Amino acid sequence: MLGAVTHSTARRLDGFGTTIFAEMSALAARTGAINLGQGFPDTGGPAALLERARTAIAGGDNQYAPGQGVSPLREAIARHQQRHYGIALDPDRQVVVTTGATEAIAAAVLGLVDPGDEVIVFEPFFDSYVAMVQMAGAVPKPVTLRVPDFRLPVEELRAAVGPRTRAILVNSPHNPTGALLTDGELAVLAEVACEHDLVVISDEVYEHLTFDGVRHRSLGSVPGLADRTVVVSSAGKTFSVTGWKVGWATGPADLVGAVLSAKQWLSYSSGTPFQGAVAWALEHVGDFVAGLRADLQSQRDLLCDGLGEVGFTVYRPQGTYFATTDIRPLGFADGLDFCRRLPDLAGVVAIPQQVLHLDPERGRPFVRWAFCKRSDVIKEALERLGKLRG
Ligand code: GLN
Repeated sequence: MLGAVTHSTARRLDGFGTTIFAEMSALAARTGAINLGQGFPDTGGPAALLERARTAIAGGDNQYAPGQGVSPLREAIARHQQRHYGIALDPDRQVVVTTGATEAIAAAVLGLVDPGDEVIVFEPFFDSYVAMVQMAGAVPKPVTLRVPDFRLPVEELRAAVGPRTRAILVNSPHNPTGALLTDGELAVLAEVACEHDLVVISDEVYEHLTFDGVRHRSLGSVPGLADRTVVVSSAGKTFSVTGWKVGWATGPADLVGAVLSAKQWLSYSSGTPFQGAVAWALEHVGDFVAGLRADLQSQRDLLCDGLGEVGFTVYRPQGTYFATTDIRPLGFADGLDFCRRLPDLAGVVAIPQQVLHLDPERGRPFVRWAFCKRSDVIKEALERLGKLRG
């Protein structure tokens, strides 16, 4: 008799089931609920950008791109960093194109962090950070951002750094809280990183999606951080093409070289026909991005005002696609249980933040709602959520 197969999931994936974003999108699809869970826009990117990708495919731009990305895109990314943040980059040595920011983060962790190293993460965190740290055999060390304004707890950050700390994983504008690091917080990060000679991996994918005139400042432009930070961003959020999965990492040549070394074994190279299109968009669709920012700001206000009227405590974000609420004023206590029942209760899907903490207890009553949806969709969701009111 042939032997039975006894494969099971490797231990490096212990504790990670399906990502909450996939679980909640599947729940929305199954129940027909309005999906305010996973952050993706329900309107398309700029028509001329979409046309460029179609033209590239029709024109035969369909074979492997160079591993580090096509040079027009690397050059456009370098000019973008210069224009917005005053960062000077050599596109040949300091820019690598990745399959979305998620791959850039994966490659940065794999390329820069050794097994047994510790990595500081700010929780609630985007879930791939801790998964990647664990897959690299490293140890995540959480520092918790707390309501009402999710400011950096400086003493807790200092206390979290130890002799094994290798890196800090930063995300600003921050998913899920929508907070942006202040100049003072950036200075603290620089001080801590320099004092302990740490590498910083900075996820800045929401860099252009900020509100109320608040502007993002890239960590790559901060003295003390510039020469030790891998800055990660992508086209997905800026141009409303999250499914294109075109991201990038920029920074000092040695750090970017490490990212490329890891990336070549992950995906080898990234989607060719999208790269030229994104290179073009980085310089030609400023009006689209300004319009997106304004639309998102009014959708944020619509959603936050409405959730407040329903009775949630709402923490209005300064950036991103997301607003955080506390569900306790409505008599609920557990966000995961609440979100799993929400399609039945009100025909809406949201994201429980406890799964974005190492200790779920710290995030239990908090739920994230996406407002990167058309106003009519948000209005309909709010009307449905009205059922939860006392
Ligand atoms: N970044 C998006 C979110 O936070 C989607 C992430 C994902 O599904 N991997 O909702």
